[in-house]
Amino acid sequence: MTSRTALAPRLPSPLQEVGDDRFARRGLRLLLKRDDLIHPDLVGNKWRKLVPNIEAAAGRPLVTFGGAYSNHLRATAAAGRILGLATTGVVRGQELADRPLNPSLARCAADGMRLHFVDRATYRRKTDPETLDAVLRAAGAEEAYVVPEGGSNSAAVHGCRALGAELRGFADVVGVACGTGGTLAGLAAGLAPGQRALGVPVLRGGFLEDDVQALQERAFGGRAGSWSLDERFHFGGYARTAPALHAFAEDFEDRHGLPVERLYVAKLLYGLVTLAEEGAFARGTTVAAVITGRPFP
Ligand SMILES: *Cc1c(COP(=O)(O)O)cnc(C)c1O
Repeated sequence: MTSRTALAPRLPSPLQEVGDDRFARRGLRLLLKRDDLIHPDLVGNKWRKLVPNIEAAAGRPLVTFGGAYSNHLRATAAAGRILGLATTGVVRGQELADRPLNPSLARCAADGMRLHFVDRATYRRKTDPETLDAVLRAAGAEEAYVVPEGGSNSAAVHGCRALGAELRGFADVVGVACGTGGTLAGLAAGLAPGQRALGVPVLRGGFLEDDVQALQERAFGGRAGSWSLDERFHFGGYARTAPALHAFAEDFEDRHGLPVERLYVAKLLYGLVTLAEEGAFARGTTVAAVITGRPFP
């Protein structure tokens, strides 16, 4: 059995139209691309990014990187459990080593992931080859296949092309929340001419334009598809929120019965509703929102 079939996905993921008066009033349609339903443990875009990497690893152990609440670490740990692969997670924050594991890291450990904590300065330099070697040695993972933070590399970007391809013919604009930008890079490349992707960064800093461009250059040899970013909806940065964002997410849950993940999906939906209300989409536009994840636990 291949890793693809063992990690049995629900693909293509469901595409649902929802009635939302904030869109309907302006002659717009809203679709939800339910990547959160792809797999119970490898949620959303994490399945699309991880499976090509597991195939490239060809049975070697996996080592990857993430913060204390990383969805990517949990997905990698779950894949390791299901496939019987050894996994190591390099976690940002040496101080976490002396505390009880939070629920996200406890799930990783329960799935058999070995956790290796590093200080923030080292974590920041993890793509520098010497630092990486030292970290892998300290973690006992020299032989492992390295999946980068967030899972975003060329294999992952190619995996996310399928997300775009599944949306061909169904939407004019496709919105996605961005962390490392790998999902947007692949999504945009997979869409048909005339469709465009809109990324909503959840981190502050304005570096994503260059990162997505670089990911596309490595994966496709140049810029691919039509995409842009709207940097206005990060709410101060990663994992930062505001009462207005929570209120918005709760209201969206009430309206549509969709559990709204707060770190990424809430910011995307908030951004799309704001853009609709600003008149940024022409009448007759169909907007699809990629639901990249669901709340944890
Ligand atoms: C990881 C993640 C993202 C970001 O994906 P990138 O490819 O890193 O931009 C978006 N939404 C959710 C729910 C995620 O877990």
